[in-house]
Amino acid sequence: MKPFEYTRAGSQADALAAGAAEGARFIAGGTNLLDLMKLEVMAPDRLVDITRLDMGRITPSDDGGLRIGALVTNSDLAADDRVRRDYPVLSRALLAGASGQLRNKATTGGNLLQRTRCYYFYDTDMPCNKREPGTGCSAIGGFNRIHAILGASEQCIATHPSDMAVAMQALEAVVEVDGPNGTREIPLMSFHRLAGDTPDVETELAPGELIVAVRLPAPVPSRQIYRKVRDRASYAFALVSIAAVVRMEGGTMRTVRLAFGGLAHKPWRNTDIEALLEGETPSADLFDRAADALLVDATGHGSNDFKIPLVRRTLKAVLSEATKGEA
Ligand SMILES: Cc1cc2nc3c(=O)[nH]c(=O)nc-3n(C[C@H](O)[C@H](O)[C@H](O)COP(=O)(O)OP(=O)(O)OC[C@H]3O[C@@H](n4cnc5c(N)ncnc54)[C@H](O)[C@@H]3O)c2cc1C
Ligand code: SF4
Repeated sequence: MKPFEYTRAGSQADALAAGAAEGARFIAGGTNLLDLMKLEVMAPDRLVDITRLDMGRITPSDDGGLRIGALVTNSDLAADDRVRRDYPVLSRALLAGASGQLRNKATTGGNLLQRTRCYYFYDTDMPCNKREPGTGCSAIGGFNRIHAILGASEQCIATHPSDMAVAMQALEAVVEVDGPNGTREIPLMSFHRLAGDTPDVETELAPGELIVAVRLPAPVPSRQIYRKVRDRASYAFALVSIAAVVRMEGGTMRTVRLAFGGLAHKPWRNTDIEALLEGETPSADLFDRAADALLVDATGHGSNDFKIPLVRRTLKAVLSEATKGEA
């Protein structure tokens, strides 16, 4: 590991001042950043430890939703009574991620900013446009079993690995940020970026900006499902995951929110397929049409071709479960 300076921030203002320095990085749980530093994939000059900041609480927000501090751990968030009751898709997504020990350290802000699990990104002997812009992409034409089938570019076909972010996407979360130019709010839907020509730029965060909290809007009475398909039953990232929030009324799908993991460079949401489903009576034919619309631009890269039929089957199973007994 390369030498670096370490600062423990005592207040948000201190953190922002230290985080504004060239080459500085915030560190929260450290479960992703320290691994990347040990492998010399990331080499910050200065770590700004934010764990002493007052960002570890879950509080009701003015609109009837919840405000989740950026330092709330994945374990505490999954176990919170309000989350389990009103946002069960989030609790289930969190519990489907990592392991108990990791969830005890991993934080809400860090989870949103964790980096891809592309094998070549972690291997500094291999070309990777995300790690070292302009060197090429080893996954294109290489082994790409876990890679993207939607929204990828010729520069990078990596996926975003977070389970939590997929559920938060379906819940229409908003990210609260503080930084050198003041505070702002970024809807999670536009927080992560597609790879395009700059796969190294992964979010809308500007240098030195700190995630302060994530807000969930007031809960919708709904059936909520998180289904994660992976190579083994625990301790594995999603090949495909789906978060569904569905409200039925008299046999009709009234509200449908769907978000997908393992498919793209960001947690994927397609409001066209939600509109296609809303106001309709559930049927196998309708679910097929929704899958067609989701996958119309899907492209496999060889080892990950299997994801296309897999996501179709998973979507149909999730929609069937979400509407079961209501048709
Ligand atoms: C073996 C293993 C298995 C895993 N399996 C899964 C899985 O199945 N599903 C899943 O979703 N995740 C999984 N994870 C990833 C894990 O969830 C993340 O590592 C964790 O959520 C990151 O949170 P952290 O607080 O430790 O972040 P850190 O490692 O502290 O930070 C990550 C990044 O976020 C930045 N950062 C942190 N907090 C802030 C903030 N408030 N504002 C601005 N920047 C910030 C840091 O600078 C860094 O760039 C796994 C990890 C491991 C090691
Ligand atoms: S897919 Fe992206 S992260 Fe993986 S090797 Fe290609 S450029 Fe790097």
